[in-house]
Amino acid sequence: MNQNVIKHFQDMRDRGCLAHAYLFVGPKGSGKIETALAVASMLNCQSEDPGESGFCGQCPSCLKIGKGNHPDVMMVERGDEASVKIDQIRELIGRVQLRAFEARCKVFILKDAETLTTEAANALLKTLEEPTKESLLILTSAVKERVLPTIRSRCQAVIFSALPREALMAMMIRDGLPREEASCLAQFSEGCRGRAYELREKGFLKKKNSIIDQFTRGEIAEADLKFLSSDGDEGKEALSILMSWCRDILLLKAGAGDERVVHADRLKDLQQQASHYTDEQLKGILQTIVKTRKMIDENLNVKIPLMLLKEQLWAN
Ligand SMILES: [Zn+2]
Repeated sequence: MNQNVIKHFQDMRDRGCLAHAYLFVGPKGSGKIETALAVASMLNCQSEDPGESGFCGQCPSCLKIGKGNHPDVMMVERGDEASVKIDQIRELIGRVQLRAFEARCKVFILKDAETLTTEAANALLKTLEEPTKESLLILTSAVKERVLPTIRSRCQAVIFSALPREALMAMMIRDGLPREEASCLAQFSEGCRGRAYELREKGFLKKKNSIIDQFTRGEIAEADLKFLSSDGDEGKEALSILMSWCRDILLLKAGAGDERVVHADRLKDLQQQASHYTDEQLKGILQTIVKTRKMIDENLNVKIPLMLLKEQLWAN
């Protein structure tokens, strides 16, 4: 179970920023399903004091989810079949539309989203696009690239790594890296140590700070804007940097400890910016980021949304 993910969902729920559909991506054994169930428990726990983990594990709701017989928590899996079939998706859609039996938030977990038949995937699109109230869809996959782009672009990705961020960070600190650097590299390497050092070699910290400054401190040069809007991968990387930046600000605003922020090398700037933005503004920025990312997936020109993002991010 990935406690960071659960904490993140808790924060987002508390601020009313929960998205409707998520894609949990990570290798087999990285705790995707366990975490999805923990999120379902956290969202529906009836205890007044659920404790650190966000759910008590003992109330009727937690017990039912634990036993797999909660009427509003549904797991869709292919079992021994090669793919998730359209009939399964039709059943899921029917249940999404139904009123909850007892849950505050119905949770639907769809395992191995990369095995959806095209027909099944198409049937699911509308449900991913038009959220119904009080329901959350969590799709899981070992390989993000194998999930159909139309599905991928409608979900917020949550990356699970074989190595949790904290563990990788601790490892890098033991290697002699400053904490601030390890914090950031551990985040953007998706838990992969080799990738973390590769990023370091390539000067990632300097690059990400330049992106943050361009968007939050001043005019982004025309040439840079053009570059970001024409190269999908660079654009996406910039967006994920800005997203983690905004999340750090949200965390600080919510009173989280300094050790939880990703951009630990910029703690002072983060603290200063936390007083600049309202929650509403940050929510708006995150929405623009998600929208822009979708546009990149659809091969659309993102120059204008990137400009808008700059306007939104420009700390007064
Ligand atoms: Zn409970």
